[in-house]
Order: sequence, then structure tokens, then C-alpha cells
Amino acid sequence: MDHSSILAWLRETRATRLSPLWQMADSTRQRCVGGEVHLRGLIEFSNYCVRLCAYCGLRAPNTGLRRYRMSHEEIMGCVRQAVAFRYGTVVLQSGEDPGVAKDWLADLVRQIKTQTPLAVTLSVGERSDEEFAAWREAGADRYLLRFETSNRALYDRLHPARPGTVSDRLAMLNRIRQLGYEVGSGVMIGIPGQTYEDLARDIEQFAEQDLDMIGVGPYLVHPDTPLGDPSFRPVAPQGDQVPADELTTYKVIALARLVCPRANIPSTTALATLNRRRGRELGLVRGANVVMPNLTPPQYRVLYEIYPNKACLDGTADGCHACLHERIASLGRNVGVGPGESAGFRERQSAVAGEEGRV
Ligand code: SAM
Ligand code: SF4
Repeated sequence: MDHSSILAWLRETRATRLSPLWQMADSTRQRCVGGEVHLRGLIEFSNYCVRLCAYCGLRAPNTGLRRYRMSHEEIMGCVRQAVAFRYGTVVLQSGEDPGVAKDWLADLVRQIKTQTPLAVTLSVGERSDEEFAAWREAGADRYLLRFETSNRALYDRLHPARPGTVSDRLAMLNRIRQLGYEVGSGVMIGIPGQTYEDLARDIEQFAEQDLDMIGVGPYLVHPDTPLGDPSFRPVAPQGDQVPADELTTYKVIALARLVCPRANIPSTTALATLNRRRGRELGLVRGANVVMPNLTPPQYRVLYEIYPNKACLDGTADGCHACLHERIASLGRNVGVGPGESAGFRERQSAVAGEEGRV
């Protein structure tokens, strides 16, 4: 799909005109990744963060937030729940937390990989190549790092680099891939200053990066952040600002499916936050094939406040599990079994195995 077609879909708002987009995305999803919905158990294990992202409630200067870091034992309790619920993957997510030391996380990954059949996804921010390598060595399968926006000036404004460093998440994703991880990325939709042109380029970037996983969700305002203050917000030219709404999120999910037909694409919590009744389901019938039930214990879940009023904030792991199973069944879809790696990744692996066989 070329740039102008992506742009035209992004600007389209008429329901009748959009219905072929939903159909194309849903049939592509069925043809390329099948009807299964994969469950990834999300464990938000630390809300400490050293960064100053202008959009996120976990940012370091946010002193109003009580910070926590779960112990190995607490995390392993959630991991055992994932096994009992027959999930194929756990996602270990946190702020960019230097208290999460290389060896501490490597030991945890090793425990999970030796004691369970689960795939492990890490999403712990921008870390050193040495750390990425150690965690991969310990058995981590996937890494999730959104590039947030492909507009470099906007990125630098909203995601300031740490002193003396450059933040280049796209380059980092390439290095992560070189280490043999499955690579996930994505963007926020409707972040202030994001134009339709920017978002079209973000979608093209998904294809260029040949991502294994694509996570997109609407930007949601957190009042205690710079973007919570209208005077800070970057302003796009008149008529060019992307809305942070449900419809645009469905369009981006659908377009992501069309440009990366074999990727795993979650129907995200941020989307469910905008439409608690049907958001997840509509994401799943417009291109998505993954959901991420939350395994974080309730006392920590409320503190992982990247934006307020997050969906499922007051739920328990059991509650999330039952609710998502029901929602998936209501669509006539089945829950996926096993790790549910991306088809592209499987192919890359067998190509490497073939090469090695020939040597
Ligand atoms: N710290 C890691 C990182 O930044 O990659 C992982 C955790 S971070 C909370 C995960 C994602 O949350 C970010 O990549 C960003 O896209 C999203 N996020 C943060 N603040 C948000 C907001 N206000 N609205 C919607 N999504 C947000
Ligand atoms: Fe920290 Fe990630 Fe939030 Fe940025 S988005 S402040 S790195 S948790």
C-alpha cells in the first residue's frame, strides 16, 4: 500500500467507506495468522523510571506516585498463574529502572525458562547492548520497544534523551533483532503534534522494520505530565492533528495488518480504555490477533498509572482471564495455544537452520 492510500484511509471517517478496510484487515488476519487469539500475560513488575517522557505518568519527576518493584518471588507467583491459565507468553514490563539490574533480570528470565514452557517478552525500555545480550542469553524470546513516533523532532521533544546520550529506538530495535529476539514496536495515536503525514510514515516504518509485533494505542492524557499542561503541547497545523480516538486506532490496527500481514497485533488496554464495552472485540475483528490479560497483583496494578482510569484497573488476574475468554468466545474465535511466535520470525529461524545445515 503506498503512502497516499495510507493517508487517504487515515483521513477517511465515513462508516460506509471504512467498511471495506475492516473487511480487508479481517480477511488478511484470517488468511495470514488464522483465527486464534494469543494471550500474553502482562506483569507490570516495576514502576520506577528514570526518564522524562512528556506523556507518561511513570516519568521520574512524578513524585506523587508511590513506586514499587516486585521481588522474584512475587513475579514467579504471577508466572505460575500464567501457566495455570495456559497462556503461552508472559510480558515483563517496567519503567526504565536501573534498579532492574542486568543479572537480576537474567536470573528471573532463566528461572521462567527452566521452570515453565512460557515464551518471555521483555519491555523494560532503552538498555545497553550488553544487557540485551545477557537477557537473550538467559532465554528471553522477544523485546518490545515502541518507537512512539517517526517524527524525529516530535520524538525529541516528547521523549528527551538522557544527558550525554542519544535516544534512537529504531537503531536499537535493529540491534535487538540482530541478537535473535522477536521484535515488537509501535506508536501512540493522536499524541499532540502528530500529523496524518507522521502517522502514515509510522505505518510505513512498521513494514520497513518488518516487525514481528505491532502495538498501537491511543494517547491518553495524564494530568501530571508536561502534556497534561495545554501550554506545553506541540500544535500540528490546522486540520493536520491526528485525533487520539477509537476510530483512528482501529484504522491504524487495520492498516498495520495490511502492511505487515503476518505480525502479531494486540488489541490494547488503551483501546479498551476508550471503549470498555467493545473496544477489545472491535480491535480483534479489525486486524488484531493478540490480547494481553493483566497478571499484575491489584495492589501494584493501581500504581502502574501511565494514564488515569486504565481499563481493568480494579480487576484481578482471575477476573481478567475469565472476561477475556468470554469476549474471545463471543467472536467465535479460539484462544491460541503455545508461544504464538510470529510467522515471519518462524520463517527467519528455519532459514537460519537451513543455512547452518548447508555449512
Ligand atoms: N518503559 C518502557 C518503555 O517506555 O518502552 C515500557 C513501559 S511504557 C509505560 C510502555 C508504553 O506505554 C510506551 O511505549 C508508550 O507508548 C505507552 N504510554 C506511555 N504513556 C502513555 C499515555 N499517556 N497514553 C498512551 N500510552 C502511553
Ligand atoms: Fe518511563 Fe516508559 Fe513511561 Fe517513558 S514511557 S516515562 S520510559 S515508563
